[in-house]
Amino acid sequence: INVTDLVDASYDRISQVEGKVQAFLSLNEEQARRMAKELDDVLAGYPGERTLAGLPIALKDNISTKGLRTTSGSKILDNFNPIYDATVANRLYKAGAVTIGKLNMDEFAMGSSNENSGFHVTKNPWNTDYVPGGSSGGSAASVAASEVLFSLGSDTGGSIRQPAAYCGVVGLKPTYGLVSRFGLIAFASSLDQIGPITRTVEDNAYLLQAIAGHDPMDSTSANVDVPDYLSSLTGDIKGLRIAVPKEYLAEGVNPEVKEKVIEALKVLEAQGATWEEVSLPHSKYALATYYLLSSSEASANLSRFDGVRYGVRSDNAENLLELYKNSRSEGFGDEVKRRIMLGTFALSSGYYDAYYKKAQKVRTLIKNDFEQVFNDFDVIIGPTTPTTAFKIGEKTDDPLTMYANDILTIPVNLAGVPAISVPCGFSNGLPVGLQIIGKHFDERTIYRVASVYE
Ligand code: GLN
Repeated sequence: INVTDLVDASYDRISQVEGKVQAFLSLNEEQARRMAKELDDVLAGYPGERTLAGLPIALKDNISTKGLRTTSGSKILDNFNPIYDATVANRLYKAGAVTIGKLNMDEFAMGSSNENSGFHVTKNPWNTDYVPGGSSGGSAASVAASEVLFSLGSDTGGSIRQPAAYCGVVGLKPTYGLVSRFGLIAFASSLDQIGPITRTVEDNAYLLQAIAGHDPMDSTSANVDVPDYLSSLTGDIKGLRIAVPKEYLAEGVNPEVKEKVIEALKVLEAQGATWEEVSLPHSKYALATYYLLSSSEASANLSRFDGVRYGVRSDNAENLLELYKNSRSEGFGDEVKRRIMLGTFALSSGYYDAYYKKAQKVRTLIKNDFEQVFNDFDVIIGPTTPTTAFKIGEKTDDPLTMYANDILTIPVNLAGVPAISVPCGFSNGLPVGLQIIGKHFDERTIYRVASVYE
């Protein structure tokens, strides 16, 4: 098999299933085929050690790709072609991966179903009446439908793990700071992380290996040594101490989802791990804290989309103020407007102390909950989501039930720790995700536990 065969296989598969799944926003066909040919020439006679060389990948559309349309799922960036590559895109390119195209997402990564995309709704490949999850829905669906071997998503409050769970694939949100955010179109900068979505845990480790590590172009990038993730996939978990937060199996979690998680814990127990129930007492404040902080940060980050510097400009403006106003009114969707308004309110003078500052304090309490538990345990395990995928249209009129979907993933972003979602069975024909949460920069232990499932 050569790279041209792989890239051909990817586009063949896309032409077969994309009509149903609709995971992509743009394809990179001409350039990908050219790169495949070049790689085949270079790789002829290559010793054959496994790297990413020649493997077809696709990227969430909030990851900047030089000269390749990057919309962040928004009409306001419909015509935006970045002039540089995100660090992750650059690192993948150097590792030899071939970018097949850009993937659909909720607008500016705000959403849990892909229904907030400014373009179209991606479908869940297991059942096309259901959502693929979000906001990295295209990233999870494209891998689940075998359109690409792996993809990158971004996770601010669950956007890698929740769609990975809904589509039955493996998705990792790395420790905050492990993967560079340079060239990621920002939603909430203190929470956003880019991470790999793959079919297997092993592929996931390969992909993380390629993208992790310090980047001077991102001031929040951690200056830590990147360990060897691949050697952690031993499946040996003898003596591992697992914490199971009672808040993660409480009311609101579907009984069948709960049952699958308990079954998974029994598998881990049979391999020599022990588990105990613990409490993360401030979890109940996580959702409110997250929506205040993330919307506040978004209101500031999205102020750069003014119709002048990037993307689409309104044709119906008589003066500068109208140009800003009309470009933003026409370019942003409802959910994005909702968040900008909430964030602007929370940051405004007179309300700042009561909302934004209070939320920052609660964020610290949530982080401390995790630190307490990690004093005595190696990992925390629970479901990724309270339910399996829901039907398209089921929650679109009710933003609050949509927000509640992320109740088990959001605390992880607030604490900055890493977590993976791995498939752990099915309920009513739809995949269930198991969430494994680790200590800061301890992705190795997460992979070791996850590798038991391969
Ligand atoms: N669904 C959450 C939100 O709408 C999380 C999104 C994300 O992680 N990007 O904010």
